[in-house]
Amino acid sequence: MCKHTDFEVLKKRGRQELRKCNNCGEVFHTVIDKEIPIKITAVISYFENSKKIQLDTVENKIFQIGELLEVNKKKYFVNHIDAKRKGELAAAKDIHTLYLIPEDIPTVLKITLKMENGHLSFRAFSDREEIFSKGDNISLEGYDMIIEKILASNGYKPSAQASEIRRIYCSLSTKRGRSLNVDKR
Ligand SMILES: [Zn+2]
Repeated sequence: MCKHTDFEVLKKRGRQELRKCNNCGEVFHTVIDKEIPIKITAVISYFENSKKIQLDTVENKIFQIGELLEVNKKKYFVNHIDAKRKGELAAAKDIHTLYLIPEDIPTVLKITLKMENGHLSFRAFSDREEIFSKGDNISLEGYDMIIEKILASNGYKPSAQASEIRRIYCSLSTKRGRSLNVDKR
């Protein structure tokens, strides 16, 4: 049966529409859901800092984890949804709090550098999409190093995107590499 998903609006009165299906040609009547505006609480996190905002939306709007939202011309990822029911998505009216992170937030890379006697640990900033591979040279805090191993969210990988990296294991190198900014907080 045709679900009339592709249609032309012939007549519109308030929330009532007379539509004609572009597939089967049937003319039918539809009452559009009323869009009731509501405000929901959203928490924007930027590393350890967070701020609470009120988001204007409509009751039936569905929010989904991972979706990109625009708030005051800035883009945010939906990171977590605290709603009546646990899940990947929820309607605005069921949401207690929406947790957002800015789209352009850099990732903090955890780096372990193997030394002759023990090891050093660093935290460095990187773009979320930046790719790191085994054999890459990186430099930070005056140390030149080569990547030996990459632990990603799904195990050890020869190469991974920064946002998926749990830890990078390096050893000292004689070659300078891409320089990274250290997170000193
Ligand atoms: Zn149809």
